[in-house]
Amino acid sequence: MKNWNEFGVDVAQIHDCDKNPRLDSLGVLKLNNEDSEPYWALVSVWVAGSDEVSYGEAGSIGEVISMTEIPIVFCPFCGADLGSVLAKKHGPI
Ligand SMILES: [Zn+2]
Repeated sequence: MKNWNEFGVDVAQIHDCDKNPRLDSLGVLKLNNEDSEPYWALVSVWVAGSDEVSYGEAGSIGEVISMTEIPIVFCPFCGADLGSVLAKKHGPI
């Protein structure tokens, strides 16, 4: 399993989805947040390979070129209701 924390994201929980076609660069992660409750997000990370280094886009292999996070409620790959995990913890509204 990928260690997302090494990219500087504070991961509370990972939805280890077997429908995820790109486990090396996409993660369905519950992120800790100082200002609010942890939330689920689709996190995409682009890590430099030898091509990026030779084109001068990165200084070394393994360097994070960009990272994007999109808050989500359902897993975009398998459709699991990620929000219900949180709802169950807090009980019915
Ligand atoms: Zn899933």
